[in-house]
Amino acid sequence: MKEVLVGLAAAVVVLLAANGVAVTPFLLLGLIAGMVWMLAEGRSAGWRFEVVEAPAPGSGHAPVTFDDVGGQEVPKRELMEALEFVRKAEKVARLGIRPLKGILLAGPPGTGKTLMAKAAAHYTDSVFLSVSGSQFVEMYAGIGAQRVRKLFRDARELARRQGKDSAMIFIDEIEVLGGRRGQHAGHVEYDQTLNQLLVEMDGLTQSDPVRVLVIGATNRADLLDPALLRPGRFDRIVQVDLPDREGRLHILKIHARGKPLADDVDLEAVARDTFGFSGAHLENLLNEAAILAMRAGRERIGAQEIRDAIDKVMMGERLDRKPRREELWRVSCHEMGHALVAELVRPGAVASVTVTSRGRALGYMRQTPVDDQYLYTRDELLGQVAVCLGGAVAEEIVFGGRSTGSAADFEQAAQLAERIVHAGLSNLGIVHRERLSPAALHEEIQRILRQEEQRVRELLSDRQTVLKELARKLLEDEVVPGDELRDRLSRSGFEPASLAAGS
Ligand code: ATP
Repeated sequence: MKEVLVGLAAAVVVLLAANGVAVTPFLLLGLIAGMVWMLAEGRSAGWRFEVVEAPAPGSGHAPVTFDDVGGQEVPKRELMEALEFVRKAEKVARLGIRPLKGILLAGPPGTGKTLMAKAAAHYTDSVFLSVSGSQFVEMYAGIGAQRVRKLFRDARELARRQGKDSAMIFIDEIEVLGGRRGQHAGHVEYDQTLNQLLVEMDGLTQSDPVRVLVIGATNRADLLDPALLRPGRFDRIVQVDLPDREGRLHILKIHARGKPLADDVDLEAVARDTFGFSGAHLENLLNEAAILAMRAGRERIGAQEIRDAIDKVMMGERLDRKPRREELWRVSCHEMGHALVAELVRPGAVASVTVTSRGRALGYMRQTPVDDQYLYTRDELLGQVAVCLGGAVAEEIVFGGRSTGSAADFEQAAQLAERIVHAGLSNLGIVHRERLSPAALHEEIQRILRQEEQRVRELLSDRQTVLKELARKLLEDEVVPGDELRDRLSRSGFEPASLAAGS
């Protein structure tokens, strides 16, 4: 087709020249058009997407299966159910069921969406092509749409070459390519790309020799164009959330395979201490622990390495920053302030207190969640505000004034106070989020913070001796584990007084 057009254009130019028409402007125009076309072609030709081939038998690499996906039992079940449409294609066709064209996996980063898509390809014996939405973003109009066409074409071709009758196209960050139309600055290009994806998906039929299924993954399903989500496109939306405690344990067990763990490692305790961690965090945690064990010249990964790895994943790499001794003393008192209030609010809450520079912090107190918790009462939230303020108040009691080290704590305390107000748990009662004036919100937040600050001041003033004694221990040892802290506290007659919230 291209060749015919070029030949035709050349013939026209020769004919015009023979008839005495000035052909130079036509030649120039043709040259420019040709260059633009070659540029566009070149950008697409050099463009590649990841093709994940099933590992050859005996290669030592196993394909990803659903057994490699920890936790996520409900999303796994939903996805496997949906995949039966592909596995039992003939039955689906016999019953006249519309084929499933797309599945959307929605959830926070690192929860295993890519892993599940790979497992889905293995489960259905399909070829697997992986792209990211951002790979379709180009400044030249039409290139994104061209790539979408190429993606579907290549998926079919690859399946044919491998003798498979289904292909799975995985589009990560699909919100970049499938965002609401008309919202982008260069929206014509974005819209063309999305339209092309819709056209390709609409063209998928049950009678295709290669059945194509699109799996999209996103952290922001709310940004997607509604056209993508309507029946017949992404028919199934599978929510993939952060794992709960059992899910974390399952993921830890999967990633602990092939890693020699010492007898003192209790994966159940690790799962309990890692509330809020994604699968990717947990994988990283065990990997970091193994690196720490290697650095320490150990044959096995011990509980200490696991504790350090949790701190590292949460707070960042340990830094060589060496604060002055007076500064460290202040940090010790500050962190112990947090720890004592935490033990008052919820006995057994402290996992460890440390004065080691990590990330932006000079020290930190890590709390153990009792269990996965999704709802909080007013008293619990006020207790957390108190824990945040414990550091600053301890500095005030010991040194007679505060430092800049509490800025992040205050921010967190204010956020918690705002949450209390919006949840209708403050003195303002039930509020309308949008109608509440910024001044009224600010005033109520201030009132909550002042009330908690006063309560923390009273609690810590009464326990100054034990506060200083434990801060000295922290300064000497650099880290005080939660159990040791509680042991010392009980020996010094520390009573976990009730921090029942005030009015
Ligand atoms: P993103 O949204 O950032 O693309 P994702 O949800 O696609 O993230 P994956 O890429 O699947 O996350 O996960 C990254 C890595 O984290 C995996 O290779 C795996 O090692 C680990 N991981 C994440 N979730 C799980 C899980 N549920 N079970 C086992 N491993 C997991």
